[in-house]
Amino acid sequence: MVPAMKPPPVRIPQADPGAGYRARRAEIDAAVARVLGSGWYVLGAEGRGFEAEFAAWLSTAHAVGCGNGTDALALALRGLGIGPGCTVATVSHTAVATVAAIEMAGAVPLLIDIDPTHYTMDPGELAAVLAHPPSGLPPVRAVIPVHLYGQAADLDAVLSLCARHGAALIEDCSQAHGATLGGRKLGTLGQVSCFSLYPTKNLGALGDGGVIATNDTALAERLAALRQYGWRQHYVSDDVGVNSRLDELQAAILRVKLPYLDAQNARRGAIAARYDSALAGGGVAPPARRPGAGHVFHQYVLRVPDRAAVQAALRAQGIGTGVHYPVPVHLQPAYRGRVALGPAACRETARASAEVLSLPMYPELSDGAVAQVCDALRALSGASA
Ligand SMILES: *Cc1c(COP(=O)(O)O)cnc(C)c1O
Repeated sequence: MVPAMKPPPVRIPQADPGAGYRARRAEIDAAVARVLGSGWYVLGAEGRGFEAEFAAWLSTAHAVGCGNGTDALALALRGLGIGPGCTVATVSHTAVATVAAIEMAGAVPLLIDIDPTHYTMDPGELAAVLAHPPSGLPPVRAVIPVHLYGQAADLDAVLSLCARHGAALIEDCSQAHGATLGGRKLGTLGQVSCFSLYPTKNLGALGDGGVIATNDTALAERLAALRQYGWRQHYVSDDVGVNSRLDELQAAILRVKLPYLDAQNARRGAIAARYDSALAGGGVAPPARRPGAGHVFHQYVLRVPDRAAVQAALRAQGIGTGVHYPVPVHLQPAYRGRVALGPAACRETARASAEVLSLPMYPELSDGAVAQVCDALRALSGASA
């Protein structure tokens, strides 16, 4: 029997959270040892330190740590009083977490299509559903734009629509730590913003984590209570809360990593610029940049109609790729046919999900590896080297 041809191992993975640990091993190991020796493991000095340092880095008055990015969104909704009897508009072209969080809070998700150039919420369709909410749905009380792949949604348009219709604006910043719009950091523009700290995110723990940021002091206090049984003081539940705490180990690790975030985002930008030039003049367009937006390249995403063939060609050269996301939320088995869609029926979302392709992107990617990916891109897009 002739053995089947096996592709060589992936030498350049699409993401590599372990590289982030190895690059700071001594500092992270010391932080872990400090927590282990302290005898205090949940909601203590490390968590408070991380919250203060994250809020200072972001320029918000408050940051509240929690268990993960999904909980951050659900807590933010509950903290704003949004739950049963409310509709929350968001997108289908996102991590399923965004939509799951809306239902965790007891609200009804309404999924808006994307602008296919930037892969973020189409403000024109948002305007239509705010003016004429789909029949049978409760009023739209909040909007969650997702700053997908590291680039701002069209927040100026979304902000003014929210203001006009009295809807809260919750930014899903889970892919956009450090991204900007008009020189202002994302996560400072809405009432409240939510960040996942999952290991592969631009700021990632070595386990689960999340953080919620706001300038509203009363809201921050409510969130701090909601994340721990509704306690404002121990053993007194003023609200019906949950358990979603950021543990001390993760907080200490995040305190090591936060000071490097801006430089790491700059490195992602430099890698993106190299990919851009490799693609220049060829048949595959580099990702579009929104005017005025500072992109942090959580993902570097191409659109290729023959995605499976492109993935296989790159894989044959040891280059890993990813797809974010192959099945939009409204077509997932758990949501299909029962989740409400805007009038555009998420048609651009479905098209994009069939064609998007994420290239290797993480700050520890070496110049040599970037050069190999660039060579493969030149060959693929038919551009001259
Ligand atoms: C990762 C992510 C989340 C969820 O974060 P978890 O920490 O995995 O719960 C939510 N929204 C977006 C856009 C994400 O990328």
